[in-house]
Parts: sequence; C-alpha cells; structure tokens
Amino acid sequence: MVDCVFCKIAADKIPAKVVYRSDGVIAIEDLNPQAPTHLLVMPVEHFDSLFQLVCDQRADTVVQQLFEVASQLGQKHGSGGYRLVVNTGHEGGQTVGHLHIHVLAGRAMSWPPG
Ligand code: AMP
Ligand code: ZN
Repeated sequence: MVDCVFCKIAADKIPAKVVYRSDGVIAIEDLNPQAPTHLLVMPVEHFDSLFQLVCDQRADTVVQQLFEVASQLGQKHGSGGYRLVVNTGHEGGQTVGHLHIHVLAGRAMSWPPG
C-alpha cells in the first residue's frame, strides 16, 4: 500500500528498529513506547485491520503466524507476563491502518485500559 508507514518499514524504505523478520512477519520497536518493552508485530502484507483480515481466506495462517511471534517475543521480554493488544478501527483506538499486535511487557499492566 503506497502511503502506509508500516508497508514502508517492511520494505526497508523508512528506518525502524527491527527485532524479528521472516517472509511473512516483521516486528519492530514502537516509536512511542508505553512500557519498557513495546513491540509491534505485523504481517509484511498489508491488511487494514483485523476487520479486513478476518474476511480473507488466509486469515487462519496470518493470525497463527502473528500470534506465534507475538507470544514468543512476549515471553522473551516479559518474565512476569506480558500483554498483547490489537486496536481495531476508530473506536478501538487504531491509528495506523496496517494490522499490528502490540506486545507490552516489563511493568505491571492495569485494567481497564483507557
Ligand atoms: P495503533 O494506535 O494501535 O494503530 O498503534 C500504532 C502504533 O504505531 C503507535 O503505538 C505508534 O507509536 C506506532 N508508530 C507509528 N509510527 C511508527 C513508526 N514509524 N515506527 C514505529 N512505531 C510507530
Ligand atoms: Zn501497510
């Protein structure tokens, strides 16, 4: 997708701190971290959000790949646990229109979220 910041990161067109990369998945450090560890795990291929992914035939594969990487990174960085977040759509708090999972770790998380 032409004007998508995360597509540009996945294509190495703009810089990011990449912590994991495979053919299908990339994980980067969030630019504005909300916890000592704050990573973003995303498919290399562009999906606007979880809304779009669940309508796609490849949803099972993509979801499996994303959660495998996100949970591995969570376990690596969060000795006492971690939180995965998928903000979806405007009311869900999504600000970047390329599906991603936030991996938050390194501090105690509170509930409810804002
Ligand atoms: P969301 O609001 O759930 O869509 O999350 C978007 C996240 O992307 C926010 O936490 C931003 O800080 C982060 N972000 C935006 N641009 C970049 C970038 N160029 N590199 C790394 N993280 C970014
Ligand atoms: Zn994109």
